[in-house]
Amino acid sequence: MAKNIPELYGSLVFNDKVMRDKLPKDIYKALRKTIENETHLELDVANSVAVAMKEWAVEHGATHFTHWFQPMTGFTAEKHDSFISPVDNGQVIMDFSGKELVKGEPDASSFPSGGLRATFEARGYTAWDPTSPAFIKDGTLYIPTAFCSYTGEALDKKTPLLRSMEALSREAVKMLRLLGNTEVTGVSTTVGPEQEYFLIDKELYQKRKDLVFTGRTLLGAMPPKGQEMEDHYFGALKPRVSAYMHDLDEELWKLGIPAKTKHNEVAPSQHELAPIFDTTNVAVDHNQLTMEMMKKVADRHGLACLLHEKPFDGINGSGKHNNWSMSTNTGVNLLDPGKTPAENIQFLIFLMAVIKAVDDYADLMRISVASAGNDHRLGANEAPPAIVSIFLGDELTAVLDSIENGTFFGKMQKVQMETGATVLPHFFKDNTDRNRTSPFAFTGNKFEFRMLGSSVSVAGPNTVLNTAVAEALSQFYDELKGTPADQMEDAVHALVKRAIIKHKKVIFNGNGYTDEWVAEAERRGLYNLKSTPEALAHFTDEKNIALFTRHKIFTEGEIFSRYEILLENYVKTLHIEARTMQDMIRRDFLPALMKYTDQVSGSISAKKAAAGLPCTAETKLLQKLAGCYESIYDGEEKLEADTKKAEGMEDTMEAASFYHEVILADMAAIRGVADAAEEYIPDELLPYPNYEKLLFSV
Ligand code: ADP
Ligand code: MG
Repeated sequence: MAKNIPELYGSLVFNDKVMRDKLPKDIYKALRKTIENETHLELDVANSVAVAMKEWAVEHGATHFTHWFQPMTGFTAEKHDSFISPVDNGQVIMDFSGKELVKGEPDASSFPSGGLRATFEARGYTAWDPTSPAFIKDGTLYIPTAFCSYTGEALDKKTPLLRSMEALSREAVKMLRLLGNTEVTGVSTTVGPEQEYFLIDKELYQKRKDLVFTGRTLLGAMPPKGQEMEDHYFGALKPRVSAYMHDLDEELWKLGIPAKTKHNEVAPSQHELAPIFDTTNVAVDHNQLTMEMMKKVADRHGLACLLHEKPFDGINGSGKHNNWSMSTNTGVNLLDPGKTPAENIQFLIFLMAVIKAVDDYADLMRISVASAGNDHRLGANEAPPAIVSIFLGDELTAVLDSIENGTFFGKMQKVQMETGATVLPHFFKDNTDRNRTSPFAFTGNKFEFRMLGSSVSVAGPNTVLNTAVAEALSQFYDELKGTPADQMEDAVHALVKRAIIKHKKVIFNGNGYTDEWVAEAERRGLYNLKSTPEALAHFTDEKNIALFTRHKIFTEGEIFSRYEILLENYVKTLHIEARTMQDMIRRDFLPALMKYTDQVSGSISAKKAAAGLPCTAETKLLQKLAGCYESIYDGEEKLEADTKKAEGMEDTMEAASFYHEVILADMAAIRGVADAAEEYIPDELLPYPNYEKLLFSV
């Protein structure tokens, strides 16, 4: 039976409609005001909202509530409390107060704090974020919250994001006022994250320690067929995948997540899901939920959803394109060029602010996507390079050129699409082609930041982007303030001209995958931060501390704590990978190799004894296998010794660099030989399913 999707959509969300229905009018108004103007909420309002929320939740079968937050683990966290409250004669009622709604007190000592807090100061607070709607999942009312320490330091990803959204709004409104706009009172950033993922069979997944412990395969020879036929991208969905996607869409719709587009991706077993964009804070929460639901629904379908950036060597990894723009509370997209971008000073100034922001803080943009997993993608020929640059397309580049050179910019001609077939409809081409190789591309009325790894929370990258753009706007404001209204247009053009001369080095419309670009970028003085440790070293640069503290996104202490957490996370990730590889090599792979070697050598002895055969081919094979065994064994010994060395390092940066330079190289060396040996070992002797099975069995 066909489901009524509009009815299903948002049915588990305490959204605006529910609030309006359930809340007394004055309370609804007060809450809306808080949501829109980011003002504080009075306790009587909170009490009233809590009652309505509980009633609604109980009607929908909820028995518990949880403050849902996003600690620095990159995952979400929750602790469930039931609504029950004892009354007389051993009975209970379902109860929920405003105090319980606005504040929670989880023990913070077991979440990463990067030294912000000693473990004896365990108290942490979660604070209700009314700008992201509460929802029901598994019989529990989920209340999105921010998470901070007893002394108010942010211990999560949401708090700085909300701070950055406020900073951007403040600076953008200031700028709009200066340009003569008297209506706008708030500007939000909007985000639509396109999420890539792999789906493989769950039973096979469970047989791979590397996938279970690290999310990626540490060993595995390429099957005869990979992605070279380019037949998977946008290919017809297989029945199991299609059933999964349907189910996932429905689960997401119930949660008010506007899942819109789904398709097969480039690599076998790789897929993508894109929602319709939302305000950044909501988009961040929704993306976290989407990733969680992707895994959960997969499990129901006998599948495993892999969100790691590089689950398989030799075929594409997964990313997350972060589509980003700025929108006024009057509904205007500030990055919409309109019909005549050259004459649209509002557009020009906001566009220029983004360009300046990305150029001035390219290092922070890179840092915001840095992780052990993403290091396997950036700079390889499948994802943008590690160098941050901007693609503007022909039209905008021409507009900025004409401003720089003081020449007149005529309107770009719309070009009619020529398909050569008269039966096909006629339409105009877009003025910008797609450039898939650019890390930061203008795509019509938004920018697409493409360096994000598939598993990252989009909170971090957007915090950086919002803050950097807020700073650029604030600097432009200082340059323009005091300009009489009738001279504003000229002043803006002059400013854009100065800015374009200074920042055009970050604009690159060519192919970002080439070596020429790497060399050119170096000549231009752009950062090329190839690894996570190399990138993170810049997090605490003076200019970056100045940026974050100036806009009150992070205190200096919070920056250093985050630096420490991110580095530690990198070290721990690689430590687990190294230990997993050792385990698989020692206990699974070498025994399998030995078994096959024994079989071959047994066969040689038997043939020689029985018929005096020379066994030249078998002997060659035996030598090859024995050689692999030796070399894998030696490699594993070295990896073990180096891992011990790394474990003894006190300084996190020293350890991180060591993992990057030495441990990863050790692992690659082992893998090279093991994968070569795997190509000879019969399937039934391999201790785990190979790439062929993993990638082509769903
Ligand atoms: P593409 O340009 O990649 O073909 P779309 O234009 O449909 O695809 O957009 C891709 C993603 O960008 C979607 O998630 C979409 O909702 C989002 N998006 C579109 N407009 C905006 C905007 N103004 N701000 C943020 N994201 C946007
Ligand atoms: Mg896209």
